[in-house]
Amino acid sequence: MRGKLVVGNWKMNGGLRQNDVLLGDLRAGWTAPAGRQLAVCVPYPYLWQAQAALSGSAIAWGAQNVSEHTVGAFTGEVSAAMVGEFGCRYAIVGHSERRTLFGEADAAVAAKAVAVLAAGLTPIVCVGETLGEREAGATEKVVLRQLDAVIAAAGGQLPALVVAYEPVWAIGTGRTASPEQAQDVHRLLRKRLSAADARAAEMVLLYGGSVKAANAKTLFGCPDIDGGLIGGASLKADEFLAIAGA
Ligand code: PGA
Repeated sequence: MRGKLVVGNWKMNGGLRQNDVLLGDLRAGWTAPAGRQLAVCVPYPYLWQAQAALSGSAIAWGAQNVSEHTVGAFTGEVSAAMVGEFGCRYAIVGHSERRTLFGEADAAVAAKAVAVLAAGLTPIVCVGETLGEREAGATEKVVLRQLDAVIAAAGGQLPALVVAYEPVWAIGTGRTASPEQAQDVHRLLRKRLSAADARAAEMVLLYGGSVKAANAKTLFGCPDIDGGLIGGASLKADEFLAIAGA
């Protein structure tokens, strides 16, 4: 049975002191209802802090990116195995900010997903169209192109992936996709995944983009949406816990 999953993406936010408060509040406030999982993806330097604060709790943690390479002369890069040493369960790959601001192409994102799997972690693979692409009627084409690269690379390990649909126009803008818009794309993604692997019916698909406590319940209630990837609202313990409880 596929359960519900809510993942916080702190992005480049945080600091030792404020993290202590946030992680402590999450640990104290999360009651871990059956079938629901909570996780936070923090900046690399704080992985040890998340590990120390959350070990033994029901809350998992992860990284926001990894290198597609395993080891070697790649200055500034961090491997999936390295983040795995800090107890990460998840690593986000292909977030739209990585794709647009750091030029990550579909093939690199797919290679990163494979690197995460090889390290024994769960990749959270992000796909999503820009506003221009949606207005040009290219949403399906774009998200399927992004997804197909990952399907081809993951092979028989496909069901181990989490896929997050994050329309770029909804990220950090306060403009959430309607439940119908989100469900339409999620249905499409699950259909494509199922065509590649019959076990895809059990895969966890997340929605991301301006999710708040006020809209989480309707979004997460859609048949093909199993939870959310939460940016801004994951920095406030009360709001994040309310989303996770929705
Ligand atoms: P947001 O970000 O919730 O702040 O819109 C979501 C994301 O980028 O993962």
